[in-house]
Amino acid sequence: MTSLSGKTDIDWAAFAAALAPVETITEPVLIKKRSRDFFWYSPILNAELKRCFGDLVARPKSLDEMAHVLSVAYRHDAPIVLRGGGTGNYGQAVPMEGGLIIDTTAMAGVLSIGDGQVTALAGTLMADINAALAPTGQEMAMFPSTLDIATIGGFVAGGSAGIGSIANGALRDPGNLIALKALTVEDAPEIRVFAGPDTLHLHHAWGLNGVITEVTLRTVPKRDWVGCMATFDSYEAAYAAGLTIAQSDTVAAKLITTVDARICTYFPKLVGHIRADRHLLVSMIPAEDQDAFATLIGHQAGHVDLMLTETKRQDLGLPHVFDFSYNHTTLQVLKADRSATYQQVGCPTPPDPAAVAALRPKLGDDVWMHHEFARVGGEIVTFDLPIIWYTTRERLEAINATYTSHGFPVYDAHTWNVEGGGLKPDYTHLAWKKRMDLKGLLNSPKSKFWHAVKDMDADEIETLGAP
Ligand SMILES: Cc1cc2nc3c(=O)[nH]c(=O)nc-3n(C[C@H](O)[C@H](O)[C@H](O)COP(=O)(O)OP(=O)(O)OC[C@H]3O[C@@H](n4cnc5c(N)ncnc54)[C@H](O)[C@@H]3O)c2cc1C
Repeated sequence: MTSLSGKTDIDWAAFAAALAPVETITEPVLIKKRSRDFFWYSPILNAELKRCFGDLVARPKSLDEMAHVLSVAYRHDAPIVLRGGGTGNYGQAVPMEGGLIIDTTAMAGVLSIGDGQVTALAGTLMADINAALAPTGQEMAMFPSTLDIATIGGFVAGGSAGIGSIANGALRDPGNLIALKALTVEDAPEIRVFAGPDTLHLHHAWGLNGVITEVTLRTVPKRDWVGCMATFDSYEAAYAAGLTIAQSDTVAAKLITTVDARICTYFPKLVGHIRADRHLLVSMIPAEDQDAFATLIGHQAGHVDLMLTETKRQDLGLPHVFDFSYNHTTLQVLKADRSATYQQVGCPTPPDPAAVAALRPKLGDDVWMHHEFARVGGEIVTFDLPIIWYTTRERLEAINATYTSHGFPVYDAHTWNVEGGGLKPDYTHLAWKKRMDLKGLLNSPKSKFWHAVKDMDADEIETLGAP
């Protein structure tokens, strides 16, 4: 079997045979499908990554099978990329050097549920975790809007926050990630346990410094959630209402999203359900807070268009309200027009509706704002995931410069470097790569700095400070 990627000189037929009894996928069309994630949101990443393919897919279904796969890969010096649901946005799971793709979705299942925590195998879908928690009166503290197709291992290794973060913080906030187990990549792979703050070494490290096998996460009491949509005459008013709800003692929101009216024209499923040509606030609130929510929206000169209990949502045949939040907002536009893209932008803290309103006209008609509200480190923060009508890299850079010069930092969504998004400010993740991945086989091209430090020892890498 020749190398599909054209980048390895491994005998992949012999490799697949050595993996037995682990399931493998050898059909080129299926390997190509599993070599992609949602990098195509970015025209820049799309051009750079669309021709990167792996050579073989393995689907281990137990810890022992995973250890066997890693051992075989180690002996063949095969580049390895872990893959859960493949919903990452920056080519996180794209095998840039070819090699082995390990699909984790068969290594799935909830292992235990305690009071305030759940432990699951890394390939478990988050929807399945929430379903297992429901009879115990609990739910996940947060989940990404890709709940139904993304794995818990992929969320921990590739995600950052989601629905629930306005109440419970980002994934990296203390108490949310309780423990991880991860395998080393060596001849006889070993399990390492990371607890509390040590879990952050592997969190958002894109699977380049250990193979996460088990995750223990914080859970919270389950509530009866109602999806709300309210509309406003100005974007500033929608954003100000979002802030008021985030600060309120009477509405315990799980989701607060604001969306520019122009983006809402790409939501065909909401036609007739929300007022046309208005700016939108999307929220999830406990059923008992509906009156308080309506009062707050009224005080902000808004109009409550939809209050959706789960039964009503199903009767109306509408999607979940979180399908209009986080990166799903962008997806709704991309479904209609692939020339759209997005960016990830921080906002001044504390959130300031006047600063957001002042910035809007400076950005130009090709930038349409969309904000998410979250609590990070206990503080209310907002971040902008605008729709950008892409023309050239130069124009994108000019938009970035406008944001930055007004005090809105850009965490670039158009780079495939793990260090590019702002969550890996030093070399600690690479010290752990050195400890966990003895030959540097795990997703190595995704680090800008790995090549420079790979011959140093782990403790030395750890002392390097910020690049
Ligand atoms: C429409 C859309 C909406 C999104 N919404 C959100 C959101 O609300 N919040 C958010 O944070 N993100 C969001 N994302 C990004 C992404 O969906 C999440 O990060 C998601 O949880 C990733 O899970 P996955 O199983 O698809 O991971 P994958 O894409 O398969 O993998 C992500 C990264 O983790 C690595 N990895 C996977 N499994 C393991 C493992 N067992 N051990 C080590 N490394 C591993 C992969 O190599 C890759 O680098 C969104 C993306 C899309 C396309």
